[in-house]
Amino acid sequence: MYNVQRPIFNVQCTCETTSLYIRMATISINLKDGALERPQEVIVGIDLGTTNSLVAYMKDGQPVCVKGKDGKSTLVPSIVHFAGNGEVIVGDAAKEKLVTDPANTIYSVKRLMGKSFKDLQGHEGFFGYQVIDDDTESLVKIRVKDRFYTPVELSALILKELKTRIEGELGAAVSKAVITVPAYFNDNQRQATRDAGKLAGLDVLRIVNEPTAAALAYGIGSPSQPPHEGRAETIAVYDLGGGTFDISILCIENGIFEVLSTNGDTFLGGDDFDRVIVDFWLKKYYSSDDFSSSDEWKRKEFGQHIRLLAEAAKKALSSAEVFEGEIDGREVSLSRTEFENLIGPLVQRTLDCCKNALRDAKLTPAGIDKVVMVGGSTRVPLVIKAVSELFQKPVFDSLDPDEVVALGAAIQADILAGNQKDLLLLDVTPLSLGIETVGGLMDVIIPRNSKIPTKAGRQYTTSVDGQKNLKISVFQGERDLVEHNRKLGEFILRGIPPMPAGLPKIDIQFILNADGILFVRARELRSNLEQHIEIRPTYGISEEEMALMLLDSIQNAQTDMQARGLLEARNEANNLLLSGDKFLKQNEDILSEQEKATTNALLNALREAAKREDKDVIHRVIEELNAYTAPLAHRAMDVTIRVAMRGKKV
Ligand code: AMP
Repeated sequence: MYNVQRPIFNVQCTCETTSLYIRMATISINLKDGALERPQEVIVGIDLGTTNSLVAYMKDGQPVCVKGKDGKSTLVPSIVHFAGNGEVIVGDAAKEKLVTDPANTIYSVKRLMGKSFKDLQGHEGFFGYQVIDDDTESLVKIRVKDRFYTPVELSALILKELKTRIEGELGAAVSKAVITVPAYFNDNQRQATRDAGKLAGLDVLRIVNEPTAAALAYGIGSPSQPPHEGRAETIAVYDLGGGTFDISILCIENGIFEVLSTNGDTFLGGDDFDRVIVDFWLKKYYSSDDFSSSDEWKRKEFGQHIRLLAEAAKKALSSAEVFEGEIDGREVSLSRTEFENLIGPLVQRTLDCCKNALRDAKLTPAGIDKVVMVGGSTRVPLVIKAVSELFQKPVFDSLDPDEVVALGAAIQADILAGNQKDLLLLDVTPLSLGIETVGGLMDVIIPRNSKIPTKAGRQYTTSVDGQKNLKISVFQGERDLVEHNRKLGEFILRGIPPMPAGLPKIDIQFILNADGILFVRARELRSNLEQHIEIRPTYGISEEEMALMLLDSIQNAQTDMQARGLLEARNEANNLLLSGDKFLKQNEDILSEQEKATTNALLNALREAAKREDKDVIHRVIEELNAYTAPLAHRAMDVTIRVAMRGKKV
């Protein structure tokens, strides 16, 4: 069995094989995708967040978030508590158990969606509950007492709570939803979110990117808001929550939303603002002697109190100039200026991410038409000021930054219900997708940041005579060698009719649908033999890993390029050696002894060169061999034609 071969180049049929490189990249958009037959049914929009989740729907033509029974908050803390009596509690009541019963209280489950324990390495300490490490590459499980839960099951419990909430509000059953996910979520994480919906009894009609939903909430791109100066608009969505930061650059044209780039930091948010305040107070008001005699529990309790007070100070300073409070009988204070000095470096980190996103989208800050603020931490005046300064314009912050994504999801649900026909959504793939070719090279078929849905294909051939089977291994990543990328799956195209090397035409198509699910199809065009897979990775990938993969690809660009160059030269040499030997055998009668000896000597020189680590040496011998054998190949061709024409009238 052989891996997929790149087209062969040889002295005899360069033209034919070169023409096997067919590249296509079409973007197909199906306006009707997901549209309902019964538009009167309410489809809800759900923001399934790391810290809080919300459910929204269209009420009298306007999106609204649904409040809890107490009528106070639209936020449902994304926290699940397993009580001693077997009861499952979700939301505010579960949040209260975070301090008293952390082992049975699960938070931040979104961070675990579609991930393996290996993905979490370095962050194990983040979770106060038990994340199971049985096989580092399988999906994580969470142990609560004697039961094991998957992140999908836990997310389903949160979704069920939201379903109950909206059904209470509407007085009717709800079965269809749109759920938002971060733009960087990979196929596996999106699929996990869909599965959670299904488990909660919801038919998830569409997974929508959070920044896209936020833009929709502001009516950006809708027919009622004509495009800025009559052209496409570019939008930056700055999302700073409690624990994560995301920046997305969108382009909206003719009602089409397209994510141009994404960037961010999965461990940066308002919680870090709280932490720097705590550190500042500890340094200013306390010494290590204050804690030397206190036990572990007391220290924990104090830590919890001071953290809550720091959060209160932060929130107060969003409108006040000074905060004054008391903890353990000690007065503490913080001025707006002190706070801004403390969080300055953290805010700067978000701006650096913005610059990276702009660079990826090939834009400058001035090229952004509108900036949308999302997430509770964008209430901090310094954040608003810094972001406005970077983009040189006022930001959109009139809607509640906690609700904006859910409101947009409700609008998207309304679009799918067939009530707003002018809008459709387009997202991008965060990492390149491709297949392994000879020598372990990554051949990218759908590049990173390609618009989805998308369909791209390429043709390949074999490099060995009579090759019957072809293994197609699908990878995700930015490095040149597949060994540095992430394998998504593989399949074998079996039973290719025996043909000389270079003759089979194997068409490989990648189809990435609107939900980011990848279908890979291989077809041998001469025999119509076909095989396909739908990629459902057996384990997930973390955002950190994704960011690392990008960083790695940049840091190793030079060595990767050298390795790729050498492998490609070797592949070319090997193909040439095969076809050269064949050429000698087939044309024994028309070549002189001298010509055979020289060709053989050059082939041997190439065989030796291919063993060396210097691609330039290989290329030089290839050039020599081609130059010497080209007239011989022409002569061989003339003879073949003459033989074929013999006895025929012209
Ligand atoms: P999210 O994850 O989007 O719900 O954001 C939650 C974060 O927003 C937490 O860190 C909160 O402390 C923070 N937050 C909420 N309200 C305010 C406010 N008024 N000023 C500053 N930060 C806030």
